[in-house]
Amino acid sequence: MKKDSKKIAILTSGGDATCMNKVISTFVKYSIDKGYEPYFIYEGYEGLYKNKIKKASLKDVRMIYDRAGTIIKSSRFPEFKDENIRKVAISNLKKNNIDTVFVCGGNGSYIGLLRLTEEGINGIGIPGTIDNDIGSSDYTVGFDSSLNNIVESIKQIRTTMESHNFITVIEIMGRQCPDLTVMAGVATEADYIITKDNILDEKQFTEVVKKLRKSEKESIVILVTELLYGVDGRLSLKEMCNYASSKIGEKIRLNVLSYSQRAGTPTALDLYNATILTAGAIDHFDAGNKNFVSALKNGKLQFIDVDKAIKMKTPSRMEIVNKFVNKNL
Ligand code: ADP
Repeated sequence: MKKDSKKIAILTSGGDATCMNKVISTFVKYSIDKGYEPYFIYEGYEGLYKNKIKKASLKDVRMIYDRAGTIIKSSRFPEFKDENIRKVAISNLKKNNIDTVFVCGGNGSYIGLLRLTEEGINGIGIPGTIDNDIGSSDYTVGFDSSLNNIVESIKQIRTTMESHNFITVIEIMGRQCPDLTVMAGVATEADYIITKDNILDEKQFTEVVKKLRKSEKESIVILVTELLYGVDGRLSLKEMCNYASSKIGEKIRLNVLSYSQRAGTPTALDLYNATILTAGAIDHFDAGNKNFVSALKNGKLQFIDVDKAIKMKTPSRMEIVNKFVNKNL
């Protein structure tokens, strides 16, 4: 196919995710195969604003595919909501004769992408976040690797909890999306799960811990999604653990998995899906389409318009939580 412009660029945005490097590697290799000139935009939308744009080569992506993180770096740059900041970003693209940008990121990054398309840039999204919080895709790149990290961490923590009959609360990253918490909790037979769909106050939490203590359980592992506590007038998770500890007369240990969730070796599933989602997006663009995101829905590769994609919601997981974990409580 004849290409209007052969220059296409990629940036990674929002929280980094294992396998972003596989997306970058596929982007460079596959686009060169297709006759494009790939470019890197470093440090997400912030780098776009600061004109941190450089031509990419095959050498840049040699053996990066299974490294965690992103070689082109990422950022959170709320200033991108400002139209004047975006104007500078767009003029940087024009200066570099680039009119097509691939963005690998989550929900927020897709909104930034939509804003670029509104200014005439061809925008293509690849779902890249550990959170799995993109409604348009059943699966996001980095989710499976993170899930496996979490499962390993929970298993390790459980060992000591079980030896000492301890109670622990484990905070799981994933922003407002319950998927990592719920899937890790079901996989590791957690004793209770708290997500955005069943937030407990300190009194309700204390009652749950009391009931769990009265049951046959020796160690108790409670998983809680991050960013539910310490916001909207709620106690922090630490304060809630301390509150319940003082009521039941037993220490509740708080473990925060934090960034360890994003590190480590990517899973084969993540590596495979990162390749399919990225190469598929390049093929779809090469066929003359623009302003879409790639997605996996019911196991099938799909392409959805950016404006529609950002309105799609992720499903609730409460049925699974109640069926397998929070039973009879
Ligand atoms: P994620 O993409 O992982 O959901 P964020 O929500 O932090 O992460 O979004 C990543 C970046 O996307 C933000 O730091 C910002 O640069 C850009 N972004 C988010 N929301 C908007 C918006 N409403 N308008 C323009 N850019 C946005």
